Amino acid sequence: MELHIVSIPGDGIGPEIVAEAKKVLNKVAETYGHTIEWKDILMGGASIDVHGVPLTEEAVEQAKAADAVLMGSIGGDAATSPWYRLPPEKRPEAGLLAIRKALNLFANLRPALLYEELAAACPLKEEISRRGFDLLIMRELTGGLYFGERRTTVEDGVRRAVDTLVYNENEIRRIAVKGFEIARKRKKKVTSVDKANVLDSSRLWRSVVEEVAAQYPDVELSHMLVDNCAMQLVKDPAQFDVILTENMFGDILSDEASMVTGSIGMLPSASLNDTKFGLYEPSHGSAPDIAGQDIANPIATVLSAAMMLRYSFDLDREADAVERAVKKVLQDGYRTADIWSEGCRKVGCRQMGDLLAERIC
Ligand code: NAD
Repeated sequence: MELHIVSIPGDGIGPEIVAEAKKVLNKVAETYGHTIEWKDILMGGASIDVHGVPLTEEAVEQAKAADAVLMGSIGGDAATSPWYRLPPEKRPEAGLLAIRKALNLFANLRPALLYEELAAACPLKEEISRRGFDLLIMRELTGGLYFGERRTTVEDGVRRAVDTLVYNENEIRRIAVKGFEIARKRKKKVTSVDKANVLDSSRLWRSVVEEVAAQYPDVELSHMLVDNCAMQLVKDPAQFDVILTENMFGDILSDEASMVTGSIGMLPSASLNDTKFGLYEPSHGSAPDIAGQDIANPIATVLSAAMMLRYSFDLDREADAVERAVKKVLQDGYRTADIWSEGCRKVGCRQMGDLLAERIC
């Protein structure tokens, strides 16, 4: 298969971790008989430095022409970087919002997986972490409260602010379809999370999700209120497979889920549109505090590349090979500084990439 991939190294540790993910993907291609055509584009601070804007039209067109995009991370230290003296629409993060919008990326996937070898980093009680967990939050990314009309007014000397939460049935249906499709590639279980005891938008959400579920009789559906879900994530995360939810609930729950793994450098993410196209990036930021030191953990980016193989290219066997290599490296006792513990061998970003590539088979 010929894979056309655009990569966005970005800022901070971005170029270092993307280089290692490319190394691993190139090894996958070599092992399984694929060819990859890479194209790099600039975004965030790196684009500001060259073009004066965080994302150019030309970069957007190049991303659109690819099958998928692999991204590092963008942004710098807001206290010291000159990028943050620019108006908000010219800052690095504006590039990310613009590309998500241009590519119509409405579905955000964030897996949270507790590796047995890293269980000690999990902040939950041992009797909970012992059971392990492997869940995925499917968050709607382009609707709801963050995109509704908002205004702040002063009435009779009293300040008043209004935000609106709007979903139509088509927006709910397309994310629900994604959720059920992805559940089919996992443990075939969807927990739809809402606040249907209070919100009309949640009641519509629930009824549309049920309509979609009828098309997926092999996938088990249950509903859960968002406040209960926040509790269950720390009480019994092993019960979940795919958590399907709207934008704001997903924003909060996905951060909670990533914290309970205890290892931010291990968590991938993907944002998809209604074709096979997706943008794949680690869940963490550009870590400017450790940039250029060859100590960043590239595993979240490597696992994002595995998601790309699985969801954009339907190359499940190759995605499994990458995920197996990550497990093997951990079992063999290699750790970057962020996940290091007594008795393990500390390696840098580049060496971790080499070790992973060597284990692709
Ligand atoms: P961050 O995730 O970059 O860093 C938080 C902490 O985790 C830091 O101590 C960092 O050193 C560490 N860390 C993160 N990733 C690591 C890795 N792979 N290996 C080892 N350690 C790692 O969050 P932050 O400091 O709040 O943000 C830094 C910059 O990243 C900001 O400019 C922010 O806007 C940006 N950011 C970008 C994205 C994105 O591009 N999608 C997402 C979040 C934050």
